[in-house]
Amino acid sequence: MTKRLREVEQEIRRCSRCGQCRSVCPVFAESLVESHVARGKIALAGAALDESLDVSRTLSNRMSLCLNCKTCIENCPAEVRVDEIVLAARDHLHEKGKNPFLKHAFIDNVWTRGRVFARFVQTASRMQPLLFKRGEGGGGTARIPLAGVDSERRIPMFESRSLLSRIPEVISPEGKPRMRVALFVGCATNWVYPGIGESMIRVLVDSGVEVVIPRGQECCGVPMLNAGDFDRAGKQMEKNRAIFAGHGYDAVVTGCASCGLALKKEMEEILETGPYLPQVPVYDFTELLAREIGVEPGALDKTVRVTYHDPCHLNRGQGITAEPREVLQSIPGVEFAEMPEADRCCGGGGLFSLSHYDVALKIGSRKAESIRETGAHIVATTCPACMIQLTDAIARSGQDVRVMHVAELLVRKLTSNE
Ligand code: SF4
Ligand code: SF4
Repeated sequence: MTKRLREVEQEIRRCSRCGQCRSVCPVFAESLVESHVARGKIALAGAALDESLDVSRTLSNRMSLCLNCKTCIENCPAEVRVDEIVLAARDHLHEKGKNPFLKHAFIDNVWTRGRVFARFVQTASRMQPLLFKRGEGGGGTARIPLAGVDSERRIPMFESRSLLSRIPEVISPEGKPRMRVALFVGCATNWVYPGIGESMIRVLVDSGVEVVIPRGQECCGVPMLNAGDFDRAGKQMEKNRAIFAGHGYDAVVTGCASCGLALKKEMEEILETGPYLPQVPVYDFTELLAREIGVEPGALDKTVRVTYHDPCHLNRGQGITAEPREVLQSIPGVEFAEMPEADRCCGGGGLFSLSHYDVALKIGSRKAESIRETGAHIVATTCPACMIQLTDAIARSGQDVRVMHVAELLVRKLTSNE
C-alpha cells in the first residue's frame, strides 16, 4: 500500500455515504454512474486501501473521471476532502504503473523539461496550421479527419513565440514604482494566450507597478499533481522556487486560477513541503487590482454586455468571486449580466477534456446555454484553461460570443464594428 493512500485513510472513513454529492457533481449529472461521483470514488479508494479491489486500468479510468472542481467538497456535510482522496488514489495508481502510459511519458520526457517543452510547442505551432483551420472566436478545427479528434472540436492553437520570449524580464512604470510584483505566467498564458500576460503587464505598469517576469519559470506542477505524479509536481515547485528566489519583489501575481491555487495552497496541502513561494503574498490578478492597487480603466468604445464564468479554482479553490466582478463592473461601457450557475464547472478540468471529451462536451454545453440566457457578447473569466473549454463550448453551440480574460477586457479598445 502506498504512503499517500494510507495518509488519507481517516478522510476516506469520514464519508458517511449520504450521497449529497450526487446532486452537485457535474460528471455524475451527465453519466448517472455511481463510480463517477465522490461517494463512489471514495468507496473505490477505500477498497484499494483495504486491498479488496485490484489496482487496474479500470480503476485508473474511474479515478480520472474527476474534474477536481471541488463542488462536492463545498456541498458535503462532513467537508470530506475528496480532492485529497482522489489525488492520493491517482498517486497510488501511478506508483503501480496503472495510469495512462502516454500521458506520463509526455510529462516525464517533455512537459517537465523546459527547453524540450518549448521546442515541442514551437514545432506544434508550425504543424498546427497544416492540420487545423483557425476559427472565428479562437481555436482551430481539424482540416482533415484525425484519429481521436472530433471534427468540430476547437483545439487551442499554440503561438510560435512564448510570452516569456517576447517581453523583457523587468518592466518599469514611469517614476518611482509603488510596488514590485513577480508575474507567474503559467503554460496556457505562455503558449496559447500571451495576450493575457501582455494585458496584465500593461494594466499593472500603467498603475505604477514594476513587473518582473522571471526567466526560466516553468509549469506550476498542477498537471503532474492531477496525473498522480507527485514527485514530478514537487520537482516543478522546486525549480520555480529557485528561479523566483533570485528576484526581489513584494508579491506574486498570476492570471491563471489553477496556477494561483497551486501557488497559494494546493501544492503545500497535498505535498506537505511548505509554501510554494515563501515570504510574499500570492494574488490572483483581479484580487490584486481590487484589493491592493485599484484601477481606473478607460471606457470601451460602446456598451457591451459581459457575463462572467467563475473558474472552480478561483471560486471554490481560493474563495474569490467578488473581485473579478468588481473589476469588470468598473469598466465604463460594460453592462454586466450574471449568468445562471456562473460557478458551475465548465468541464475543462485541465487535461480532463483530453481523455474524457464526451463528458467535457456535455458539461460545456450546459455552460454555453447559461451564457446564451444572458444575451452577452463577451464571456469573461480569469483562467486560460477555462477559456480553452469555453471557446469550444460556445463555438459548438453556434453563438457569436467572445471569450476573454478580464485583463484583456481591461485594455481592450473595442471598435465600432465588433
Ligand atoms: S463525500 Fe460527503 S456528500 Fe458525498 S457521500 Fe460522502 S459524506 Fe456524503
Ligand atoms: S471534484 Fe467535481 S467532478 Fe470530482 S467528484 Fe467532486 S464534484 Fe465530481
